[in-house]
Amino acid sequence: MWRDIPSVISHHYKAGTINWPMGIYITLVHVVAAIGLTHVLDSDPKTIMFSFVLWWGSGLGITAGVHRLWSHRSYEANFMARFFLMLMNSIANQGSIYHWARDHRVHHKYSETDADPHNATRGFFFAHIGWLYVKKHEAIVKAGRELNFDDLKRDPIVMFQKKLDPWFALYMCYVMPAQVAHYLWGEDFWNAFFVAGGLRYCIVLHFTWLVNSAAHLYGDHPYDPLSYPAENPIVSLCAVGEGWHNWHHKYPYDYAASEHGWTSQFNPTKMFIDTLAYLGAVKGRKRATGAWAMGMKRRKREEKEGKVQPKAAPRPWEVKEFEVKRD
Ligand SMILES: [Zn+2]
Ligand SMILES: [Zn+2]
Repeated sequence: MWRDIPSVISHHYKAGTINWPMGIYITLVHVVAAIGLTHVLDSDPKTIMFSFVLWWGSGLGITAGVHRLWSHRSYEANFMARFFLMLMNSIANQGSIYHWARDHRVHHKYSETDADPHNATRGFFFAHIGWLYVKKHEAIVKAGRELNFDDLKRDPIVMFQKKLDPWFALYMCYVMPAQVAHYLWGEDFWNAFFVAGGLRYCIVLHFTWLVNSAAHLYGDHPYDPLSYPAENPIVSLCAVGEGWHNWHHKYPYDYAASEHGWTSQFNPTKMFIDTLAYLGAVKGRKRATGAWAMGMKRRKREEKEGKVQPKAAPRPWEVKEFEVKRD
């Protein structure tokens, strides 16, 4: 996989399919994060603690916000909850809610095909970060045009954030943490900018990308053996409970994005949504445990009747040609 990267880069360069603006941006994000590493030891412990809070806070803006609420409509949230999630989402700075949800719906509908923005059959590197360095495959653009996003257009909070994009998200991601740390506990502005802003941002980006790469390639497939997405506890630890991905792709409308509760599967996002429901800010939480119970019954009946259950789909390392697919 890794040895193919230079030839893949030269292929895209010659074909004119490198996404230069995004590629330069993602590279700069890593340069700023590397500078952040050199500031860690100079930082106040409160700033380090604050970075951890922002990891979880911005993480929830992705998982509870743009993912489980806006992409999948797995629960309903009132104005205040949606506004709070929009702010948290802006700290995560992963593109506007509108664009993230659009790409994510396409990802679910066309998983592991050319129309999947981070198609995992093209290998770990492409699914993790490589997809951001190349122009979108025409099948992705076509799929995005065919789906309906009227529900997102109707949400004034989503459209408000889209209008301010990318400046508001850049401010919330880099500058706001620096101002908070500087004014509340006297941290050097640039220490906080690089550590609680740049370094924390880059780490959370990688944690989110692990859902597209590792959780699409490594783990068990108890719910849908034919799909790539897998149950990956390590990704769940990094991505505040978003690694139970075999269940999630089988039942994307389930607000927990996992079979079990947060007492047996690490899932702070479910805990957060449950807390909002307890406070009356969230309602209509959908679950798929009933559908799964019926699926299990059917599977057991079929096994009794002697019907062979499908085996897992071939994984990328079992398909020789996957590494050279570059269109
Ligand atoms: Zn996925
Ligand atoms: Zn999803």
